[in-house]
Amino acid sequence: MNLHEYQGKKILAEHGVNVQRGYVISDKNDTLDIANKLIKETGTGWFVVKAQIHAGGRGKGGGVKLAKSLNELENIVSDILGMYLVTPQTSKDGKLVNQVLITEDVYYPGESEPEEFYVSILLNRVTGKNMIMYSTEGGMDIESVAENTPELIFYEDVDPLIGILPFQARKIAFNLGLSGKAFKEMTKFITLLYKSYVSSDSSLFEINPVLKTSDEKIMAVDAKVTLDDNSLFRHKEYESWRDLKEENPVEIEARAVGLNYVDLDGNVGCMVNGAGLAMATMDLIKQSGGEPANFLDVGGTADAKRVETAFRLILKDENVKAILVNIFGGIVRCDRVAQGIVDAYNNMGDTINIPIIVRLQGTNAEIAKDIIDNCGFKVYSAIEFQEAADKIQELV
Ligand code: GDP
Ligand code: MN
Repeated sequence: MNLHEYQGKKILAEHGVNVQRGYVISDKNDTLDIANKLIKETGTGWFVVKAQIHAGGRGKGGGVKLAKSLNELENIVSDILGMYLVTPQTSKDGKLVNQVLITEDVYYPGESEPEEFYVSILLNRVTGKNMIMYSTEGGMDIESVAENTPELIFYEDVDPLIGILPFQARKIAFNLGLSGKAFKEMTKFITLLYKSYVSSDSSLFEINPVLKTSDEKIMAVDAKVTLDDNSLFRHKEYESWRDLKEENPVEIEARAVGLNYVDLDGNVGCMVNGAGLAMATMDLIKQSGGEPANFLDVGGTADAKRVETAFRLILKDENVKAILVNIFGGIVRCDRVAQGIVDAYNNMGDTINIPIIVRLQGTNAEIAKDIIDNCGFKVYSAIEFQEAADKIQELV
């Protein structure tokens, strides 16, 4: 589950990580109240307005703006709230901004220049450890840093059973070129950030930029946080944070009926039982020249009702030119699944106007093939993987 910047910063702040202070609003009439609160709490005179959408690169798209007076602040808030923000990470239509975060300005002048760094924490699946990735090149798109100056990105693996050790935090502060007060602040920042990542069960923290202020404080200016969906059951406190406006409507519908559905860009819809077989089926579609339109694991019970629900979900995608059903009959008998498909087809009448290729393998596969071959609909049977692949090539 992806979080908005303001939600990510809330998690950080709760764990003692220094963040740029701010409040989120969805009604522009609340602007002055928030501004006055920030003035009281932080002493700031300038403010930053930040669009809250699930996409990065907001600064480049005009979704992050500095206001140097209350009047300017009100104008910027009413410009950004309700706009369709286009960034390098959104589609060309952009994303509707429903909320903005109003923060204190933390790039104030002082003894030294403010400095931006990059810090992220993620799971390194190769080593089975948490990895802290960091760079002196903060505030920029990290993909281009990796492309052009990979030597400026550092990595530190942290053993999840031991946790972050003091020497690791010091090494990071040292490699970022810090000394004195900023060095100490950075070691504290990294240690708390790591603890916050672990106790929120996150799979990604990306803080870009981490700022060294002109008076040597270290703080998170941005926060991209992804919570591990598998851990959400033990974090009821984050349940209400899910922003359905940011999620794919078909995926939301699928989740509600207990189907595992992920929307993709291709033209062949798939309906499969078991995540492993679903992945193999997607490979098969690609190898035969098609592109999968979705990942869909219907689970163990592929009865008529469930098959029908799955068909309806798949057909919402206008790009779908054919559907490949690939079911292994282990616990569920193939003939029952075949009957389920025929019943679903019957119920749905002429809403299905694309070919369906059905591969049923396992218990009673031959009987199932007979049912499919004799049903009189545009449903094609295939028993071997290769037959299914050839049919896709022929039809798409
Ligand atoms: P992103 O563009 O979506 O990654 O959004 P960020 O939260 O990273 O903000 C973009 C940029 O806005 C940062 O890299 C900063 O340069 C700038 N910015 C953020 N906060 C402040 C602030 O308090 N004062 C000033 N002057 N600039 C800021
Ligand atoms: Mn950023």
